[in-house]
Amino acid sequence: MGPQLGQHGGLAALEAQVARDIALTAHPRMDWMVPRLRQGQPALDVLIVGAGQSGLVTAFGLFRERVRNVLCIDRAPAGREGPWITFARMPTLRSPKDQSGPDLGIPSLTFQAWYEAQFGAEAFAEMSLIPSVQWHEYLMWYRRLLDLPVRNDVEATAIEPGTLDDGGRCLLVTLSTGEVLAARKVVLATGQDGTGEWWMPDFVRNLPKERRAHTCEVAIDFEALRGRTVAVLGAGASAMDNAAVALEHGAKEVHQFCRRVPTMIQQYRWLTFAGFLRHMGDALTSGAGASWATSCASAKASPRIPTTACSPSPTSSCMSSGPGPMRAWKAIASGWRHRAARSTPTMRFAGPACARTCICGLS
Ligand SMILES: Cc1cc2nc3c(=O)[nH]c(=O)nc-3n(C[C@H](O)[C@H](O)[C@H](O)COP(=O)(O)OP(=O)(O)OC[C@H]3O[C@@H](n4cnc5c(N)ncnc54)[C@H](O)[C@@H]3O)c2cc1C
Repeated sequence: MGPQLGQHGGLAALEAQVARDIALTAHPRMDWMVPRLRQGQPALDVLIVGAGQSGLVTAFGLFRERVRNVLCIDRAPAGREGPWITFARMPTLRSPKDQSGPDLGIPSLTFQAWYEAQFGAEAFAEMSLIPSVQWHEYLMWYRRLLDLPVRNDVEATAIEPGTLDDGGRCLLVTLSTGEVLAARKVVLATGQDGTGEWWMPDFVRNLPKERRAHTCEVAIDFEALRGRTVAVLGAGASAMDNAAVALEHGAKEVHQFCRRVPTMIQQYRWLTFAGFLRHMGDALTSGAGASWATSCASAKASPRIPTTACSPSPTSSCMSSGPGPMRAWKAIASGWRHRAARSTPTMRFAGPACARTCICGLS
């Protein structure tokens, strides 16, 4: 039986605690931002594009600093922001369950506090990794509780410089509705969407639509892969997840291709140290980049944590990383093969690796 709701401190009590903790640490309380106008209309102090976790936390951080003339926008419908319940097809986060961040140092705002208030400390202790859906629910709770201003279903399509009525500078952000918002600062919290294109090599892009997909797509028709052979390009997190989901939907075989021999090392784990997480921004603005880079390099050189040992299991299809239970690949038991191709663009399908559908896990 899974964790039981409702027998613990409860969210109402936790929410009262959060309000008290915020009040206790609110100094200095005085508002200090001077309202500014553009064409006689109030300009925003900050427009945040993207209301995933980074956008929400940025808004809360600004609220804490008494910058309250802020708006977040997101092109996703309300409750569908970020990857967690859309295209991230893993059952759990890879990050450790005690990771903090959105709480900005307020214990009652942590994921752990939210979880324990509903399911109890014992259930949290027994949890290996945070279920993705619950991380998403926690973010939704955070947004509601902190009353963060989010406008959904609207996309930022262009940004250009502008001028406020008092001659000061601003940015003019055009929205998909045709409106133009003036803001003194704009924060791009657009996540992986904002880092460039979700890429496919041309030889995949040129396939008929029903023969290819990208892991960023929300509506991949996995049912259509039943009994089929599937090629997955890439061996990162999303590629692994999509390979597993294809098998869980009855794909006959999934062949996974990557340019390097897979190491089964979680490449991002090395950056989980305070020097990186707290001071990356300082290095970029203070000119201290060289010494910071040196400390990062030495941290990176230290032994890294292997994540996933692949071992067959007839019972489990969940992936975990780090010290939690190993993900045992149902995939392997079902004929999943991990295959290193020398170079993705020259990859050839032949004989048993001939695939009907190709899923790209590349960005
Ligand atoms: C499979 C997978 C597993 C992951 N596992 C982890 C993990 O275990 N731990 C971890 O910390 N991270 C993990 N990540 C990374 C995860 O994406 C980020 O940590 C997290 O989502 C970053 O939050 P964000 O707010 O920066 O971006 P996102 O959550 O991606 O939010 C960005 C938002 O911006 C919106 N947006 C983009 N462009 C526009 C625009 N032009 N106008 C309006 N809105 C726009 C999008 O709709 C989206 O809602 C994983 C990602 C994937 C895909």
